[in-house]
Amino acid sequence: MLRVASLCVLLAWLVLGVPVAKEKQKVLLISFDGFRWDYDRDVDTPNLDQMAKDGVKAQYVTPPYLTVTSPTHFTLLTGRYIENHGVIHNMWFNTATSEKKGYYQTQFVNEWWDNGTLPIWITAQRQGLKAGSLHFPGTASSYQGEVAMVREVEPSFYNYSNEAFWYENTDKVMSWFRDQDLDFVSLYFGEPDMTGHKYGPDSPERREMVKQVDRAVGYIRNSAEKHGLTKQLNIIMTADHGMTTIFRGPDVEEIVLSKIPGFSFSDVSFQLLDYGPSGMLLPKPGKLETIYTALKGAHPNLHVYKKEEMPEHLHFSNNDRILPIVLWTDPGFVLNGVRVYLPVQFNKGEHGFDNQEMDMKPFFRAVGPAFHQNLEVGPFETVNIYPLMCHILGIQPEVNDGQLSVTQHMLVTSKQTTQPEVTNLSAASSSQSEISEIPEIP
Ligand SMILES: [Zn+2]
Repeated sequence: MLRVASLCVLLAWLVLGVPVAKEKQKVLLISFDGFRWDYDRDVDTPNLDQMAKDGVKAQYVTPPYLTVTSPTHFTLLTGRYIENHGVIHNMWFNTATSEKKGYYQTQFVNEWWDNGTLPIWITAQRQGLKAGSLHFPGTASSYQGEVAMVREVEPSFYNYSNEAFWYENTDKVMSWFRDQDLDFVSLYFGEPDMTGHKYGPDSPERREMVKQVDRAVGYIRNSAEKHGLTKQLNIIMTADHGMTTIFRGPDVEEIVLSKIPGFSFSDVSFQLLDYGPSGMLLPKPGKLETIYTALKGAHPNLHVYKKEEMPEHLHFSNNDRILPIVLWTDPGFVLNGVRVYLPVQFNKGEHGFDNQEMDMKPFFRAVGPAFHQNLEVGPFETVNIYPLMCHILGIQPEVNDGQLSVTQHMLVTSKQTTQPEVTNLSAASSSQSEISEIPEIP
């Protein structure tokens, strides 16, 4: 019977020319931290170019605000805006004790991550699939008592830039797909973010690192082929945010809160400052208006908002963890709390700015049996990647802020009644400004 059924499927395929019998689809989600949408423009990137020919390339994608690593990665895994998934910052903090933990230590604060929204690993596993994760932010945590069934968290002081490690990690993930039959894996690389911070996005060092990323893209696709996965595996590559250049020098009027007339740290109960362009303040009782009035308009490149008055497009208001006053700067500037003698922020590149800024936009590529070939599409928000992945995997998504209809035209299975948004990239490039700056760790 089985043989007859297979024959029917084969006949249908031959007659109709459509892939009736589909292999089970797998998804590998890869993030190259801080890979800005236009990083392939000033570097020769043969492997990224080939991936675009063999699959789908978006002009750029828009991350959620706050454009920093852990929050935006959790949006990729959940399809939710940051105010809705609750991982609102790279740093865990406690306003009662003024305790703070950095990016890496916060990976291990379970309640910071497990606060109501399930990442795709757990949803996939609950629906009978197998999921894994390597170094992706959020991997260390459990969610409602469950973890990704195969996972690896990087050790502290991990060398995120080591190219040999990248290849080892790639082969490891491919063996998870082949030998353990995983259906979904998320894989994280810490570059070109670190290089962008240290040297700036316009530096030769950043361009060299993009070449390394491109070599890795070639390695990843070769490894998939060597492991016999090309007919099943869909590879989605994107990033968490972009990067922009920080203005330095005697002519730059830096933003230092302690120097602003009428503002005093004695009115502040808790602060999250000196972390690139963004900050949050918890005023002492009765001091909110004093602080707000002093800071609002104090510097032409400083934005000051009460939490409940935040611009709607940022979706960064409706969460108890967000503090009553939210601050951010224009590209080129960072937010300093106190400046006594020397600056505490040295990065030449930063991120964390408004997600409408072009320099905050990541890249996007996808290739595999589910995707069209040689298709360029217009920009979309990264909340829409989650429902796309769920659709390819054949699982029911959790409640999310994305829409499959935004990305569905990338898929070969889509009935293209309307023309997908195809963008002329060369035309778009001439209209984009050449700004770059970035901060963030990692
Ligand atoms: Zn990042």
